[in-house]
Amino acid sequence: MRGQSERLPVNRLFFVGRNYHAHAVEMGRPVDKTSARPFYFTKTPSTLVASGATVAYPPETSNYQFEMELVLAIGAPGFRVKAEAAHQLIYGYACGLDMTRRDLQLVARDQGRPWDLGKDVEESSVCSEIMPMPGVVLEQGEIELSVNGQVKQKSDLNKLIWNIRELIADLSLFYHLQPGDLIYTGTPEGVGPVVSGDRITGHVEGVGEIALNVGPAA
Ligand code: MN
Repeated sequence: MRGQSERLPVNRLFFVGRNYHAHAVEMGRPVDKTSARPFYFTKTPSTLVASGATVAYPPETSNYQFEMELVLAIGAPGFRVKAEAAHQLIYGYACGLDMTRRDLQLVARDQGRPWDLGKDVEESSVCSEIMPMPGVVLEQGEIELSVNGQVKQKSDLNKLIWNIRELIADLSLFYHLQPGDLIYTGTPEGVGPVVSGDRITGHVEGVGEIALNVGPAA
């Protein structure tokens, strides 16, 4: 956590799919909020790695992609939480990378199979230190990612299709949210592949920065 040596005991890792319009379109699956609900997938908590790490290029993919995301850290339990009360569950925020075997994810998606091999990749849930911001609902702020210094993703948190309050309200219909749950809130447009030797850097305005080095193949 920012300015402290304490670590937040992480419970579960939730990920929101298609939560920026321009990214939904680039994935070929536009979102109509009037008829759609948010959807989620999870990753094994052991896939978590700290910002600054060097990770192996994972096996069985030739299209390993970055997704820059705002991460919401839950600090209080909640079930069937009303949007108006959602801020009570917020502990803070971090920068995150939802690294993805895009080739395997899209095959699974198009065949109606689970996304695990595409998404639940070892060392694929990258997280920066958490900025404690209890009760603060982030509604805007630049989110940006670069590879080797070249900007690839640039958007604003005000473009989230389902905002922070709506995500907590909706996800808490399905799960008893617990302290230490991390919610990766979705990625903006511009996702793309990395290769061994690449360095990813990113930031979210008011939250912090993140970095990841892609090492040789595992
Ligand atoms: Mn994602």
